[in-house]
Amino acid sequence: QKFVYNFGSQTDGNATMRELLGGKGANLAEMASIGLPVPPGFTISTEVCTYFYDHDRTYPASLAEDVKQAIQSVAEQMGRGFGDAANPLLVSVRSGARDSMPGMMDTILNLGLNDETVEGLAKISGNPSFAWDCYRRFIQMYGDVVMGVEAANEESEDPFHVILEETKKAAGKAQDNELTEDELKELVVKYKALIARETGSEFPQDAYDQLWGAVGAVFGSWKNERAILYRQQYGIPAEWGTAVNVQAMVFGNAGNDSGTGVAFTRDPASGEKVFYGEYLTNAQGEDVVAGVRTPKAIAEMADELPENFADLEKVRARLEEHFKDMQDFEFTIEGGRLFILQTRNGKRTGLAAIRIAVEMNKEGLIDQKTALLMIPAESVDTLLVPVFDPEAQEAAKKICGGLPAGPGAATGRIAFTAAQAEIEARKGNKVILCRSETSPDDLKGMLHSQGILTTRGGVSSHAALVARQLGKVCVCGAGDITINYEKKTLVANGVTLKEGDYISINGTTGSVYEGLIESADSEVKRVLEGTLKAEESYTYQLFQTVMDWSDEFRTLRIRTNADTSAMAEQAVAFGAEGIGLCRTEHMFFEGSRIDDMRQMILAVDGVQRREALKKLLPMQRQDFVGLFRAMGDRPVTIRLLDPPLHEFLPHDDAVRRQLADKLGLPLEFVIDRIKALHEENPMLGCRGCRLGILYPEITEMQVQAVFEAVAEIKTNDGTEVNPEIMIPLVGFKAELADQLKVVRRVAEQVMKDKGVTIDYLVGTMVEVPRAAITADEIAEQAEFFSFGTNDLTQTTLGLSRDDMGLFYDEYQRKEIYSKNPFASLDKTGVGKLMQFAVANGKQTRPDLKLGICGEHAGDPSSIDFCHNLGLQYVSCSPPRVPIARLAAAQAAL
Ligand code: ADP
Ligand code: MG
Ligand code: MG
Repeated sequence: QKFVYNFGSQTDGNATMRELLGGKGANLAEMASIGLPVPPGFTISTEVCTYFYDHDRTYPASLAEDVKQAIQSVAEQMGRGFGDAANPLLVSVRSGARDSMPGMMDTILNLGLNDETVEGLAKISGNPSFAWDCYRRFIQMYGDVVMGVEAANEESEDPFHVILEETKKAAGKAQDNELTEDELKELVVKYKALIARETGSEFPQDAYDQLWGAVGAVFGSWKNERAILYRQQYGIPAEWGTAVNVQAMVFGNAGNDSGTGVAFTRDPASGEKVFYGEYLTNAQGEDVVAGVRTPKAIAEMADELPENFADLEKVRARLEEHFKDMQDFEFTIEGGRLFILQTRNGKRTGLAAIRIAVEMNKEGLIDQKTALLMIPAESVDTLLVPVFDPEAQEAAKKICGGLPAGPGAATGRIAFTAAQAEIEARKGNKVILCRSETSPDDLKGMLHSQGILTTRGGVSSHAALVARQLGKVCVCGAGDITINYEKKTLVANGVTLKEGDYISINGTTGSVYEGLIESADSEVKRVLEGTLKAEESYTYQLFQTVMDWSDEFRTLRIRTNADTSAMAEQAVAFGAEGIGLCRTEHMFFEGSRIDDMRQMILAVDGVQRREALKKLLPMQRQDFVGLFRAMGDRPVTIRLLDPPLHEFLPHDDAVRRQLADKLGLPLEFVIDRIKALHEENPMLGCRGCRLGILYPEITEMQVQAVFEAVAEIKTNDGTEVNPEIMIPLVGFKAELADQLKVVRRVAEQVMKDKGVTIDYLVGTMVEVPRAAITADEIAEQAEFFSFGTNDLTQTTLGLSRDDMGLFYDEYQRKEIYSKNPFASLDKTGVGKLMQFAVANGKQTRPDLKLGICGEHAGDPSSIDFCHNLGLQYVSCSPPRVPIARLAAAQAAL
């Protein structure tokens, strides 16, 4: 079996082989074969990673020999020998998963150096301090990644870094590239001593030992904590594994005509078509990303290294033309020669994703379908979220500026560590994570924050990259700020802020403000509301273009879950085509209605109950009139009362007494009734259709309110409304039959009284497994099914959504649920039930109307599933309607 794939003079792979070679390996092969200057190397496939974990961290028997051959071929192409003391080949060992996971796994540079080969490198390069710089870098990386010498915790510095700083200080040098040969040699001695002290083992001298140590560490890093967390965040399966790339080193630290950098073919923050990136001269690898020295903007290269800059511009155009997407690429210049070390589709903000897709289509680079597929549906959200209120921002005190790295506005309490950010967030507070620079270990803290502020590092620093990807607001490289982790303070231009104080950052402009700034609606929302002209907002135009294209391609209808006319209006402005779920219980919580509701619940018999319901009827009718009016002739599904009744009753003694007084009932009686209604498991108790079966007068009142409202609209506005009455929590066809009779009787009565005819449907929510399993029977009665996937998930998994807290973290850590089943549909479990229900329901009633109204209806991957299931619509919360429109189009493409 083939485990090793070459790239260079002979190239075995290409860009389509991501699964096998990982994204980095596949694209290195692709670039090599289209003639871009890629240093030669080879990729050990992801299959080896799978084998590694299946076989107690060992390798297939043939691998050692294959690797040896491949590395000898690389050595030949470079005119060097691996481990050759006089003329050593150095390589990098790089991770590379199918989807890039920037900075999450490990990379080792300058491998092949030891006490002898470093002398050889010094001689052939004629530059001893360069050779020793490579050696000290190698020992540091190897010591950290392979031998596990690292900082004790997030507040302490990396021990290698501490030694480096001491050496620099003793030598009176500001930058690490100013150290002399002797100082570097001294550093090497200290590094080796540190490793021996910390691990009890010597730093290995044999090149092959080094290589296998590095390969094992890279495969091992697939299961490190931060990689696992990252996979959860992005739903990357643990089974994929990483590939390992071994590649000949080229040296950006070989002098001032050398350098290294990272560039994007367009601005990944705004999406604008400008060359974007940064570089450092006389530097290697991670220096740019790690924010060790502050890099220069790529534009400066036009003056400093004009020939290389011209080459780079050519590469920029070639990459976009070939890969048909914005590229994020890494390059190194060695002695005036340009090499490309990596390219991938660049991570970008939601705004940039949309702008790039639309503009690339206009430039003729891609068609509309491709453009739509290039936009993560979630990213539409970034155009809709609030920005700072302009006046509040004007009035706020600006304390300094930094680089705008993740657009948007964020305000929150200062946290200086990832752990503190998590603590604040768990308290329900908004957080801005403030660090000198971030490392992959900060990922968790970043997830918990509204925004990220760093004092060092450029727009391609780790903080910026991850923030853009997470859609977080980010200002980086705010150099005027000094953070003191010990004192837990942040000082900028005379202003001192403490942990827990409010700070505000504008990631679109890079400005940092003291205190809390109020936010305002996004441009898109303002245009939709008519307070901003469409011509004046390019953001809105982008949004509208994407929505127009989406509507052209999608076949799923998009409805919304709305209970009030205000919600309905917002949803319609966002493009909702109907209401898929109106939860009528929410209507009873407004104003003093709750008292009438309580009176109804406390009633001892039907007569009393009807009395109370009479008072509720006009209010409910009025609500429906408002809702129908907001929706025009769009379909509206109304769910009859669903929650257990005691949810409406007071728990507090004082409130109970008030209630008793108000209703003129003895307190004892009220307390007894509340006790009598108590349930051990209310969510599995007297709720849903069980309520209406027990108290048919509730169903009567609700249906009467709906139909009278429809009649009123019909007569007054001349609008045709076709209500859809939905019975919740049905598991037996007899339950539905019982309620159906009530609905039809009352509907007939109202139509007769008002002298109108109304077309309506009666259907059910499918939200318990029994309904799905007996769908053929249920469909005899139901004219539509709406999958209530929140409850269906709870009842199928036997898991209360509100009681996951105790074990959910552990489940995540062990990757037991690949995604939160309440956020993204459990396709293999709940999805199977849905599939079964669709097929069997349709057998009974071929024109059965099908939709989904659970939380999942706003989740792109669940929408894709619903599309394939053949549902007619999804119904999500109003703010998610635009996302659903795009996701539905993507599902259809
Ligand atoms: P990551 O996936 O974290 O970006 P990489 O494998 O891309 O890790 O390595 C990080 C950096 O190391 C690269 O950006 C590049 O600058 C440097 N690097 C990797 N391989 C080589 C090489 N063969 N020659 C020179 N520099 C290299
Ligand atoms: Mg990289
Ligand atoms: Mg339900």
